[in-house]
Amino acid sequence: MLLENRQGLILGVANKRSIAWAIAAATAREGARLAFTYQGERLEENVRELAETLDGSLVLPCDVSDDAQVDSLYRAIQRDFGRLDFLVHCIAFARHEDLESDFVQTPREGFRLAHDVSAYSLVGLVRGALPLFPPEGASVVALTYLGSERAIPRYNIMGVAKASLEASIRYLASDLGPRGIRVNGISAGPVSTLAGRSIPGFNSILHRYREKAPLRRSTEASEVGDAACFLLSPWARGITGEILFVDAGYHIVGT
Ligand code: NAP
Repeated sequence: MLLENRQGLILGVANKRSIAWAIAAATAREGARLAFTYQGERLEENVRELAETLDGSLVLPCDVSDDAQVDSLYRAIQRDFGRLDFLVHCIAFARHEDLESDFVQTPREGFRLAHDVSAYSLVGLVRGALPLFPPEGASVVALTYLGSERAIPRYNIMGVAKASLEASIRYLASDLGPRGIRVNGISAGPVSTLAGRSIPGFNSILHRYREKAPLRRSTEASEVGDAACFLLSPWARGITGEILFVDAGYHIVGT
């Protein structure tokens, strides 16, 4: 098993369709013990029900825009796990009105909020995890999308926040490489999740991928889960600061 005796923190499970849950299923299958977070009581029951299907898992609250909650998350993980070998960031948020309007209309608060939750959170979470990462190193994976480098209609401020997330991945990889901590991103094709479906025109994006991607289909969450396992495992020990596309090849296609 690729992740035997490893302990990981996975943020961003909302329900069984979440990409974070596909990564949890794959990493648990490969032997990892997992801690999960939920934001607010609304999702607690969902996350607990899913986590109970995996032996030894831990479920804790964490709104990543609140430093105090991030601190208490790590205190609880320290008490229960004592050590973290990997961290998976599957969190993004932009206000609906900022996706519906033209990008040029994005107000300061919408810009700030999308960056805070979707990009800065990676920096704060990795910093908080440093005392829990063992001296032999650790691995971090964050989820991103092609809208970071192409202007995709209605992805708007989310695309700009993803560009910031990807740059943060490279700077974190550069900072933490000397300590053996690898930081990578997965750029996934469209997957039908709560966050995915909140992007205006999501169905037509799905349709375009099925029509144009070299593999002539969209992306399965389980494919992202398996790719994350690889990046988190020793098989990827020479890879850091990388964005790996798991999108049936869509990003290579020109028209
Ligand atoms: P999802 O199931 O809706 O997961 C998004 C998660 O982010 C939810 O659990 C959500 O919790 C959480 N979140 C939002 N704001 C938060 C906050 N302040 N603190 C803590 N958690 C917060 O959707 P998903 O598609 O799996 O998204 C996971 C990641 O994959 C995201 O980074 C997304 O951008 C990325 N991605 C998705 C696709 C796609 O097509 N689905 C493609 C490429 C990349 P709440 O529900 O409580 O807000």
